[in-house]
Amino acid sequence: MTPFGCRWCGIEKSNHGRRWKRSKGMHGWEQPTQAQIKARMIARRNARTEVTP
Ligand SMILES: [Zn+2]
Repeated sequence: MTPFGCRWCGIEKSNHGRRWKRSKGMHGWEQPTQAQIKARMIARRNARTEVTP
């Protein structure tokens, strides 16, 4: 998941278009909150750390 993916579904802006999400309904890409970006970056860093020996 990209840190800058849609705040509702996590899909990146370039291939988002209009999508359906049960909790949100039909929506266009929306910028994630700073907290979401930060959380995703940390999650990605942690995932990468686990792979490294
Ligand atoms: Zn979305």
